Amino acid sequence: MRLRFVAALLLSASLPFAVSAPLCAQAVASAPTLIPEEALPADPRFSADRVKADVTFLADDLLEGRDTGSRGHEIAARFVAQRFAALGLTPLGDRKDGKADWLQQITFQKTERVDAPAGITVSGPVGSATFAQAVDSLVGLSATEPKLDVSAPLVFVGYGLSNARLKLDDYAGLDVKGKIVVMLRGFPEGLPSETAAYLVNSKYEIAQAHGAIGVIQVDTNQSAKQRPWARRIALGLQPAFTWVGPDGKPFDETPGIRAAGGLGDKGATALFAGAPRLLAQIRKEADRKGFRPKGFALRTSARLFGESKSSRVTSPNVVAMIPGSDPALAGEYVVLSGHLDHIGISPAKPGDPVGKDRINNGAMDNAAGVATLMEVAHVLSQDKVKSRRSVIFLASTGEEKGLLGADYFARHPAVPIGKIVGNVDLDMPVLTYAFNDVTAYGADHSTLGKLTAQAVAPMQVTVAPDPIPEETVFVRSDHYMFVKQGVPAVFLATGFGNGGEKAYRAFDEANYHQVGDDVNQPIIWRAGARFAEANYRITRAMADGDVPPLWLKGDFFGDLFAPNARKADK
Ligand SMILES: [Zn+2]
Repeated sequence: MRLRFVAALLLSASLPFAVSAPLCAQAVASAPTLIPEEALPADPRFSADRVKADVTFLADDLLEGRDTGSRGHEIAARFVAQRFAALGLTPLGDRKDGKADWLQQITFQKTERVDAPAGITVSGPVGSATFAQAVDSLVGLSATEPKLDVSAPLVFVGYGLSNARLKLDDYAGLDVKGKIVVMLRGFPEGLPSETAAYLVNSKYEIAQAHGAIGVIQVDTNQSAKQRPWARRIALGLQPAFTWVGPDGKPFDETPGIRAAGGLGDKGATALFAGAPRLLAQIRKEADRKGFRPKGFALRTSARLFGESKSSRVTSPNVVAMIPGSDPALAGEYVVLSGHLDHIGISPAKPGDPVGKDRINNGAMDNAAGVATLMEVAHVLSQDKVKSRRSVIFLASTGEEKGLLGADYFARHPAVPIGKIVGNVDLDMPVLTYAFNDVTAYGADHSTLGKLTAQAVAPMQVTVAPDPIPEETVFVRSDHYMFVKQGVPAVFLATGFGNGGEKAYRAFDEANYHQVGDDVNQPIIWRAGARFAEANYRITRAMADGDVPPLWLKGDFFGDLFAPNARKADK
């Protein structure tokens, strides 16, 4: 799973921001009696030993954390491809000499800082001051302008949100054409978390649509508490990635926004010199629930400058298919996806003991998801009667860099995107307890909610509502890239029942994106087999239904990304 608060600010692609909401209060309850794994029903076609073997190989130290573009990830991709070959699947990657390969090669552009002066200069009625990079400012990396230098007048735009359906228009009455907009981080309290996550991810697109050429973000009291400035700098200094299209150009969703950055307290205050309302006042108002500050032209201007260098690396998705058995439906596809990449090796820190483990093995994240995917492929390939629709298996790359492999696939699929009727994503199933419920992220937006609940019911597994809405999981894994192309998707996670909450929180705290995410965790392999069964049942139900999965009438995401698609009654 991808980090919620990302890493580097790259000007291209969707930019992640802090979504504000307090962490759930830990429920205090007397310890319930837990059901042991052996007591839960299991279909013998799903093998705990195979899941164990695959996770153990993919999470081996020799694969060095499967970082995008690394040798370890290449080895993992070859392994998955050969497992697909052994199952008799059809390759669906790049076409070479009239034949399809297992791999879909993707070129990525990596952009990183170089040692050169960088920062944000603010000029206005009280003079001019430069706020240095990585101290008082953070200037984003540009994939297209290695010597970035952008100056323009400033306009404050509140939270910078705009959505007709939600009656949000922070740009009302403001002229930001050719200007740099100054906005508060996050969103006003009161919006549903998934909608808010979408809006926050769209702030640059909204700014671009209004003609702005740059964005400067400043903290609210709330966002500063959630992510202190020092932490923001540490994350913001990492390299940024984007995929390169067949035209050779780095993908950029907001080419109009040439420069973006953030300012710490000193710089943020300076932006409002001589303004009708000062930042401290606005921050105080923003503490009130639902309050949306109105924008106004500032009396200051800013110059954002910095230098970067870019390099390119290739890394593959692995893509395979089982053709459908119904001639009328075999031309429609269900995609089962899981990311194969992880975050690689952590850099050494001064004072590290000799031989310190720095390999992020990614056993749960996401060797477990890929092993589950391969187990589903195994059982589907053995089915006497194959599913009516075709099933595509995608082991994606670049997920940890921003859902990039899945985004590339969804924009360059081997079959027409309009024929992909649904997606099931597997990411970081926590397998350290005997799960007896699942959370189906994204399912409430489409008929997949009902379908999922019915599909897993025979396993005595229930579907629980999102237990961690503040984590906005819906927009943080590969399935969201299918959603953005209009495809109904569901991402299944093991639930909080039967000891799940404790297991999830323990994993999140101690091992998520850390070296401890390895096979030394107390993994219950039988739970892995049962998780494969749940995903098999969902995939089969999607592939066999008379009607394909449909967005629900009036759903925010369905209306947004698939406005012309057939919709289902709620
Ligand atoms: Zn992850």
